[in-house]
Amino acid sequence: MPDIPFARPDIGDREISAVVEALRSGWLTQGPATRQFESMFGKAVHADYAVALSSCTAAMHLALLALGIGKGDEVILPTMTFAATAEVVVHTGAKPVLIDVDPLDHNIRLEEVEKARTKHTRCILPVDFGGHPSPVIELAEWARDREIAVVEDAAHAFPAKHTARSIGSIADVTCFSFYATKTLTCGEGGMATTQREDLAKRIRLLSLHGISSDAWSREANNPPAWKYEIMEPGWKYNLADPAAAMGLVQLERADEMWARRRAISARYQAVVAAHDALECLTPRPECDSAWHLFVIKIVPGTLSIDRDRFAMELRRRGVCTSLHFIPLHVHAYYRATLEHPPENFPVATDAYLRSVSLPIYSAMSDAEVDQVVAAIEEICHAFHR
Ligand SMILES: *Cc1c(COP(=O)(O)O)cnc(C)c1O
Repeated sequence: MPDIPFARPDIGDREISAVVEALRSGWLTQGPATRQFESMFGKAVHADYAVALSSCTAAMHLALLALGIGKGDEVILPTMTFAATAEVVVHTGAKPVLIDVDPLDHNIRLEEVEKARTKHTRCILPVDFGGHPSPVIELAEWARDREIAVVEDAAHAFPAKHTARSIGSIADVTCFSFYATKTLTCGEGGMATTQREDLAKRIRLLSLHGISSDAWSREANNPPAWKYEIMEPGWKYNLADPAAAMGLVQLERADEMWARRRAISARYQAVVAAHDALECLTPRPECDSAWHLFVIKIVPGTLSIDRDRFAMELRRRGVCTSLHFIPLHVHAYYRATLEHPPENFPVATDAYLRSVSLPIYSAMSDAEVDQVVAAIEEICHAFHR
């Protein structure tokens, strides 16, 4: 039996044809497919504006810059996240302020945000862990009253809902990832969505060298096509049409792919419920998760093996796993630059030592899911105390 990879992109003939068509069209960089992808994605998440970018990292970086965040400002974010969430804050000159997460879903809670708030707090950057939405409505309401912005790291959270409202329509800016392992992929790519025209315009301007062709159309009638104006130094963060063409097909298939991940998560939830050695994360009852990840945690004292050995035993049975995440406060750079002892993050520090991420993706076959389930049951049985 071949090994089950931790992730496998769900790319079919339709995606392949769409990319070939984009290549044949002669338009290789940002063009008609990118514009259409923005428009369709914005509709899908009920956002008024959507800007396609080269990554979620780029989207978060530009969102912070568009909000004017920089030196002297503080941005509150969870320690339980990927490198990107904090590094973009550092790149703006602002200070990342790490907080612990809730054991239920590994998301931040308002109480922790309130404790970390200072007079320098300008932004909250919640991460929708594994596709489980953060309490973003509550955070956004609290933040609005205090003139604090909310930029949401929704790299895992397409499609997802918080009380029937789409993730992508709630925060000041929501940032999505279309990286190869994410729930919708175009290889590399990202999207910033917002209801604010000013932020959308500024993100778009900064994504392409700070160059505006609008400035010319305002000042002259019928400007020649070659005229443009540099408004400020920007970045090169745009998406290309062959990638957008692939994203458009993935977007059409999003419901079908989501349904498949929900079905797999239901199988895993049943296994976890049947074994006292295991627990898993659960989205809050008012949320619909994208189910990008399925994280199980080993209950202390139940098995004679630790997490590393558990993952190794799965690997021996052909199941590849991953770990989400090594919390930021454990990494060399953040240990050196922030005065955060691990005791400040009891939930994340503990979860890091007990977690395993199981394979969950729409291209997984029933036989593969069966194999994962059988492997977990065998290990729980063989190593139960
Ligand atoms: C993948 C990921 C990102 C980065 O996405 P890119 O599109 O690769 O930039 C950001 N945050 C989290 C939580 C992620 O998992």
